[in-house]
Amino acid sequence: MSIADAIPLEDLLAHVRACTACRDLPLGPRPVVQAASSATLMIIGQAPGTRVHATGIPWNDPSGDNLRSWLDVSKDVFYDPNRVAIMPMGLCYPGRGRSGDLPPRPECAARWHPRLRAALPNVALTLLVGSYAQQRYLGSHPGGVSGRVKNFAIPLEAGWFPLPHPSPRNRLWLRQRPWFFEQVVPALRRQVHALLQ
Ligand code: SF4
Repeated sequence: MSIADAIPLEDLLAHVRACTACRDLPLGPRPVVQAASSATLMIIGQAPGTRVHATGIPWNDPSGDNLRSWLDVSKDVFYDPNRVAIMPMGLCYPGRGRSGDLPPRPECAARWHPRLRAALPNVALTLLVGSYAQQRYLGSHPGGVSGRVKNFAIPLEAGWFPLPHPSPRNRLWLRQRPWFFEQVVPALRRQVHALLQ
């Protein structure tokens, strides 16, 4: 498929939502993305789970509840594409492996992210939620996700805010790192509230 680099966002979103590049997805393609050209905040997560796949609504699960709680934003704000753009590393549910959902499809971000980001010129802050998003946009870090998140002020200067995945499965990770709620979440809220007012 060939798509001109600069096409209106609505046309690009139609192409994205019709993507069938990965024909071996267990539940079939159903790209989940939210965007409008005025959006100032972008959220890049991992990949939809089965509940998000079934509804087509991003972060429509306990992880989303946790993320909204960290950001301190309502569902009305979170799901307003004019303010918040949402595109995971893999836009479709990737299937299940032995220890949980499979990684996002690696071809997906390469195929769609550059064009979507180019069509969203007002994004001033991008939340990188989890290791896959951080690896793509910030590269590796000797401290992994923990090191990245604890030192969030460095990528923040360039408009990136690394976060752990808000899955309930990460409860222990959070409990062992009280600095996350003491230092990172307040800074995150300041950034996000300033953008979404
Ligand atoms: S995962 Fe991405 S590349 Fe694969 S079918 Fe879905 S939208 Fe297309």
